[in-house]
Amino acid sequence: MTVSSLNIAKFGGTSVATMSAMRNCAKIVAAEPATRVVVVSASAGVTNHLVSLANTPLTQAQIIDIIEKIKAIQYSILQDLGKPPELSEKLESLLEALIDAAQHEELLHRDDLKDTLLSFGERMSSLLFTEVLKREGVNAENFDVRKVLRTDTTFGEAVPQLAEIERLASQLMQPEIIDKVLVTQGFVGADEIGRTTTLGRGGSDFTAALLAEALGAQSCEIWTDVVGVYTTDPRITDTARPLPELSFEEAAEMANFGAKVLHPATMEPALRQDIKVFVGSSKEPEKGGTWIVRNCKHEPPYRAITRRKEQVMVTVKTPKMMHAPGFLQQVFTIIAKHNLSVDLVTTSEIAVSFTLDNPANSVAEKLNRETLDELRDFCEVVIENNYDLVTVVGNNMHSAAGVSSKIFWSVRDYNLRMICYGANPHNMSFLVHQDDSTEIVKELHRSLFE
Ligand code: ASP
Ligand code: MG
Repeated sequence: MTVSSLNIAKFGGTSVATMSAMRNCAKIVAAEPATRVVVVSASAGVTNHLVSLANTPLTQAQIIDIIEKIKAIQYSILQDLGKPPELSEKLESLLEALIDAAQHEELLHRDDLKDTLLSFGERMSSLLFTEVLKREGVNAENFDVRKVLRTDTTFGEAVPQLAEIERLASQLMQPEIIDKVLVTQGFVGADEIGRTTTLGRGGSDFTAALLAEALGAQSCEIWTDVVGVYTTDPRITDTARPLPELSFEEAAEMANFGAKVLHPATMEPALRQDIKVFVGSSKEPEKGGTWIVRNCKHEPPYRAITRRKEQVMVTVKTPKMMHAPGFLQQVFTIIAKHNLSVDLVTTSEIAVSFTLDNPANSVAEKLNRETLDELRDFCEVVIENNYDLVTVVGNNMHSAAGVSSKIFWSVRDYNLRMICYGANPHNMSFLVHQDDSTEIVKELHRSLFE
């Protein structure tokens, strides 16, 4: 037996941060009988606290201080639930295990221990949310996602094993969701021998899409604190507006190029299985949201503008490159060997420039002396920081007449360090100085959308 119409609902950190936020989510679940699997993030703030515990050398007093902050977030919800004994006991034992994990002496040096520690956020929030759902009259049950979300062993950035996930979900979840709503953890997985892994920050969206794919769901709802995906980040301009619909490709480009609402990998399962994805606000579900689908009613040339900050530009040159076969391959072999992932590339006769995403200065570790020495063996290398990447996302951008000239006209007063256009019909990207990027996004928004 299978459920005829299945929806997966995912609730983000702010949606499960307090009792009243959780109650809004519970009403959304209760109102939709097709929702049989609920995926939750950790309550807002908890994962950040856990990351500090996992990555910073701390004194005992500092550790206790952070744990108290986590406790305060979860206990306030427990308190509002009237502290039912069974639930209190379960939360208490999770917290005790969390404290042990936080005090493990090898924590700072072992990625497996870090992932176990990070998993407690979702384990606590899903436990609490199950109870809130029951209070709303839903036949809810807490489900340990590690039983089905099989990954490889890349702690911190684990890669899901799709065939195994499908097999395990069919076996262990499918029979349960006939008459129950399973509440499970986003972001968390387990490897072949049961060690806890995580999918990378913001990974709960990805979990929801993976479970939707594994269970053959028709739709996947991502409930967050904004009423959908916007034409651009509303913090940049208050004229940004929510989009009623987006295509899978557009959404994937937006997530890749910096739109914060969706984890970039979320669209992959959706695309493979044609699963409609909805993004809306759990606080204001009546306002609707954005539907991400295979075929949109309209395919406008300009849909949205995104910005990704903290980009590094690397330029490699050699006079010998002229007519020299194999130069690019040599460069990119070294880059790949050091696990650097390249975004934009432009080439000329004697030089190649490319960009690297550099959140929290993470590139420095990989673009180190060794990497540079290897490159400098056969070319000159220049590294420039302080760039942002601005991307216009839309449709048929490389073939529709006038599309690019309108974009170029809007940014004519700015210095564009690099332009990427033509390789993909859905985007056009500029590398610009970080001091200019806000103005550039505003200017583009004004001319393309207002
Ligand atoms: N709790 C995790 C994080 O904050 C995963 C998620 O919320 O999607 O990154
Ligand atoms: Mg998120």
